Amino acid sequence: MKASTALAPLLGLLPKATYGSNTTTTCCSALQATSLRDLVIFPSSIAYNESVTSYFAVNAQLRPSCIVQPHSAEEVSLAVSTLVKAGASQCKFAVRSGGHTTWAGAADIEQGITIDLSMMNSTTYHADKGMASILPGARWQSVYKALDAYGVTVPGGRGGPVGVGGFLIGGGNTFYTARVGFACDNIENFEVVLASGAIVNANRTSNPDLYKALKGGSINFGIVTKYDLKTISHDGLWGGLVVYDNSTTEQQISAAVNFVDNIHNDPYASWIGMWEYNSTTGQNIIADALEYTKPVAYPAPFSEFVGIENTTDTMRFATIYNLTQELVQATGYRDIFTTGTYRNDAKVLRKAIELHNNNIEKAKAAAKSVSWAMDTIIQPWPKLFWEHTVVNGGNVLGLDRFDENLVQVLYDYSWDDEQDDALFTHLGRTALNELDEYAKSIGSDNEYIYLNYADKSQSPLKGYGEENVQFISRVAKQYDPHGIFQTQVPGGFKISEVV
Ligand SMILES: Cc1cc2nc3c(=O)[nH]c(=O)nc-3n(C[C@H](O)[C@H](O)[C@H](O)COP(=O)(O)OP(=O)(O)OC[C@H]3O[C@@H](n4cnc5c(N)ncnc54)[C@H](O)[C@@H]3O)c2cc1C
Repeated sequence: MKASTALAPLLGLLPKATYGSNTTTTCCSALQATSLRDLVIFPSSIAYNESVTSYFAVNAQLRPSCIVQPHSAEEVSLAVSTLVKAGASQCKFAVRSGGHTTWAGAADIEQGITIDLSMMNSTTYHADKGMASILPGARWQSVYKALDAYGVTVPGGRGGPVGVGGFLIGGGNTFYTARVGFACDNIENFEVVLASGAIVNANRTSNPDLYKALKGGSINFGIVTKYDLKTISHDGLWGGLVVYDNSTTEQQISAAVNFVDNIHNDPYASWIGMWEYNSTTGQNIIADALEYTKPVAYPAPFSEFVGIENTTDTMRFATIYNLTQELVQATGYRDIFTTGTYRNDAKVLRKAIELHNNNIEKAKAAAKSVSWAMDTIIQPWPKLFWEHTVVNGGNVLGLDRFDENLVQVLYDYSWDDEQDDALFTHLGRTALNELDEYAKSIGSDNEYIYLNYADKSQSPLKGYGEENVQFISRVAKQYDPHGIFQTQVPGGFKISEVV
């Protein structure tokens, strides 16, 4: 990152005529005509290529006409005002924090400009308030490292490199969700750059409707330039990965359903079940990520999982930083995520795994990639998660209308050959459609779709329910009356596409 900053002054001097179309070149020139000049980078530069290739999924690495890398809210404001003034029809732009969304165009753009927030990546602890100010371009691993020195942490991503900015406005499921609610429910204040260029705070007393809407409403209102999160004391966790043979599936499903239904008895426990096929090893295994958010070994909630015969086990006392390094997913692949939410029903989980196994055989027969992987990831979504929402000021996820424990299924496929894009996209989408249809047929369906895992073909905002859709729409119009974040910023999930 430092290298990018150092090169930026030189790159600002590069000739601009060769980049993008004439109209987008004009937009990049408009940025260069301001004090942002040294922060605008172009395709022939190292900094530009570093930014583009740092998106998690290779298929999401688009090439904008230029990228601007602000260092402060004021610079974000100047970039937004300049692009808005230069004209909505010409200067389309994207907003990017960690770039972990797996579909192209969510946080990047072609024939447009990307506002890349990765230079705004610091974490500052305020001991007196029990809060941390985290900038959107940080990755969770840097947040955990910075806070560890003070014996505190925040509820954040479970893979160290995952981005902060998009994660927090899409909900945020963490090891701590059962204890403190979704990550967004722990935000006390957002600093936001609006389409007008105004820099405002959104909290319980200032702009409270924007405060609530940003907790799940994603890129529909403005650009968040700072998050103030409540901290949690951190004296270590007990956790790791336990790997099992695929033949233990039925025992895992039984343990999973019981775990979800009993999580309220001990909210310190977190379980993620991963059914994983990897073409390189040829193995179809199950890996459980078991994390207990205080340093106690073999706590009761894990007893069923621990009782299943395993092949390897890394359970240990560790920091959150250490545990989130273990859950890092390989980069350099093309990816698709598709996700659904269901009643906590063993039949649904059984079907999800049956579809997983069928898809592995289909991919084996057709894939051209040298290396590919298919993960079916099952996670608890119990009502305890949203019991924390109301006391924390509310959010727009709409989960409070469900009075039952749910589970979430994520099909996460990755491959290395572009020729397989259609194959894996088709397999991911059809598996989810079949699971949805099956769940409906037995009355175990649910309309909620987790935005942070949703595929482009899905409509997570619609799944928040009509009342929240109307609320998000009203707040978006109030803070962005000209609809800049609906049209001039086309990426991400848009409320105007739902209403
Ligand atoms: C390997 C991996 C592990 C993951 N682990 C978890 C997990 O443990 N828990 C979980 O809940 N999710 C997880 N996710 C999903 C993750 O929450 C989303 O990918 C999320 O979008 C990541 O945030 P980001 O900053 O990288 O978003 P980006 O991809 O940069 O952006 C996502 C969306 O938000 C918008 N946006 C980004 N920053 C801002 C901002 N500052 N202001 C306004 N809009 C903005 C973008 O325009 C885009 O539309 C994981 C994803 C991956 C690929």
